[in-house]
Amino acid sequence: MILSKVLDVIIVGAGASGLACAYFLKNSNAIILDKYEGARKLAITGNNRCNITNTLPFEDFLPGYGKNGQFLRDTFGKFFREELLFWLKRLGVETREENGKIFLKNVSSKEFSRILKNKVETRIKVKKFEPVISAKREGNLFLVETEKNLYKTINLVLATGGKSYPHTGSDGSGYSLAKQLGHTIVDLEPIEVPFCSKEKVDHLKGITLKNTTVTLKLERKNIAEKGDLLFTHFGLSGPVILKLSNNSFREAEISVKLLDNPKRTVEKLHFYKGKTKNYLSRFLPKKLADLSPHKELQATNLNKKQLKDVENFLSDFRIKVKKCGFKRAFVTKGGVSIKEIDPRTFESKITKNLFFCGEIADIQGSIGGFNLQYAFSSGYTVASTINNRIS
Ligand SMILES: Cc1cc2nc3c(=O)[nH]c(=O)nc-3n(C[C@H](O)[C@H](O)[C@H](O)COP(=O)(O)OP(=O)(O)OC[C@H]3O[C@@H](n4cnc5c(N)ncnc54)[C@H](O)[C@@H]3O)c2cc1C
Repeated sequence: MILSKVLDVIIVGAGASGLACAYFLKNSNAIILDKYEGARKLAITGNNRCNITNTLPFEDFLPGYGKNGQFLRDTFGKFFREELLFWLKRLGVETREENGKIFLKNVSSKEFSRILKNKVETRIKVKKFEPVISAKREGNLFLVETEKNLYKTINLVLATGGKSYPHTGSDGSGYSLAKQLGHTIVDLEPIEVPFCSKEKVDHLKGITLKNTTVTLKLERKNIAEKGDLLFTHFGLSGPVILKLSNNSFREAEISVKLLDNPKRTVEKLHFYKGKTKNYLSRFLPKKLADLSPHKELQATNLNKKQLKDVENFLSDFRIKVKKCGFKRAFVTKGGVSIKEIDPRTFESKITKNLFFCGEIADIQGSIGGFNLQYAFSSGYTVASTINNRIS
């Protein structure tokens, strides 16, 4: 085990927030350590188009992070969308807007992550394939242990991400490091995650229902959202499901409104000379129409109760679901308690010179560029705090 000279800064994690922090650091007596080659998650964001931020005004942006959004007021005061877009321009990265979301224009997510890594590597050593296994305080310094080395540093930045998509490197090990340094971890939960279903819905895979209302039936309340719904081989996905997955639950039932106006459809069904399923397949994908009650019966012969059954099927198609887990989740809810972090500096309130940026903290945004905006803004804030102290 090699003990290096004392460093000014160690950043653990070369993802979105860690690389932003490294980029803005003025001091070069610093290193970044990453479990893999770094920026794996950034390289796959937004279906390779990277939804970097969005056009919402400042005050409407904060609620995108739920009840913890106010924590970001200060950091967004320093580095928000304008600063982010200006920075990207300096990196040669152009953006474009699409329905209020801002995506990369001239490069893919993969190319962007390469550009950012290369830029950082011109000044700071990025130590790849060197996972950090422990971190502890020794006097005024931190001792950071990897499988290969033992490092000493004055400032330590934990930018290890959440627990979702663990093959990208963010496998939750950063939470153990934070715990070793005295921090509390708010319960972790996968969000922005598809729903898996034990019921046989795999034969519906590939079906998309546009702008559909889906209601999550929880013990104490029902939560309805509208958006596109996609049937997959494992269950359900699409924007409406990802939105619903931001609610806490283990197992639940969802109700899908298959048609906008089931009552009117059923009124007309009564006059159709043919099988129920054939009439319904005018409005629904055939495989769904085939699930209707009384599907083989002549529609004109349906009695009042049978018509009601069909109406219920169209307005309230039930599926038992559970969240698919961290492997398929875009984001992790929970993390280092923000009660223990100073919102002006992102420094630990428990251990001096220890900083957090990105998803490791208990801050999580909805889909739509909130998470990357936060990752870059928090990385900037940590770097400028350290710059002010060192200079
Ligand atoms: C498929 C997918 C698409 C997404 N698309 C978008 C999008 O379009 N827009 C958006 O806003 N958000 C998107 N997100 C969310 C966004 O990518 C993350 O919130 C963001 O990358 C978090 O940045 P981070 O720096 O906190 O963590 P990460 O980017 O996850 O980086 C953490 C880094 O830390 C390293 N690490 C972890 N533990 C250790 C350790 N013990 N030792 C050393 N290194 C370690 C990891 O290897 C990794 O490189 C997407 C997420 C996924 C999974």
